[in-house]
Amino acid sequence: MTAKPNTLTIAGSDSGGGAGIQADLKTFQALGTHGLTAITAVTSQNTLGVSAVHTLPAAHVRSQIDAVFADFPIAAVKTGMLGSAALTRLVARTMRMRRPAWLVVDPVMIATRGARLLDENAMGALVDELIPLADILTPNLPEAEALLGRRIGRAVDEAGADLLALGAAGVLLKGGHGKGTDVIDRYYDASGVIETRYPRLPFEGHGSGCTLASAIAAYLARGTSPHAAVRRASAWVNKAFQRAWRPGAGTARVLGHG
Ligand code: PLP
Repeated sequence: MTAKPNTLTIAGSDSGGGAGIQADLKTFQALGTHGLTAITAVTSQNTLGVSAVHTLPAAHVRSQIDAVFADFPIAAVKTGMLGSAALTRLVARTMRMRRPAWLVVDPVMIATRGARLLDENAMGALVDELIPLADILTPNLPEAEALLGRRIGRAVDEAGADLLALGAAGVLLKGGHGKGTDVIDRYYDASGVIETRYPRLPFEGHGSGCTLASAIAAYLARGTSPHAAVRRASAWVNKAFQRAWRPGAGTARVLGHG
């Protein structure tokens, strides 16, 4: 039996099985890693939207992280929905202490269907404490605008440079919320910028952001370099979502690989 690298997601649960922890675990499994979880929040949601959010007590998020680090060699960590300033600070503190080889931070703020997944007052903790620890930060355009406190418009490279200045080693600025016929993602790091471009899917892919960030973490865990991890994860997510399907009454489709 060959050993698989262990990957940890610290994120929220989506009862509809499309985004969050559930998307992360599906991705980790599909990409040949063993997925571990520390759940920060439990959302009640389906393909129509989010009806309730319950964030867990910090002590219990902490004990999940402690439990997995106490047992498993963890090759990469991905963070998603953190819910509150207190949980964001806690996760930053544990990452400073545990120093995983790779940390991918998906700055989840608001669901596509409008539910707030991060308290407004948590932005300071995210920017000051967690983002500087990240190897790769993966904001979409609205998240990037919230982090920068300004509209981006056409000044995409300027935004990329300013996001990089927040302290992550690399920033994947995702263009999915743009308007063109292609989705263009741009990855910025100290060596410059690389671009990935795929035809825009003709439907809403619920959980695609979570899936991309966890795919990057899985490739990093398998020893792929950051540039190659971004490219391979983008290609994999694009291909996987071409086969996405509608499991519920909403129009949103979820990952259906296999
Ligand atoms: N629910 C949870 C727990 C999430 O982490 C996320 C996104 O990160 C979402 C919902 C939103 O997913 P989407 O915007 O793709 O619908």
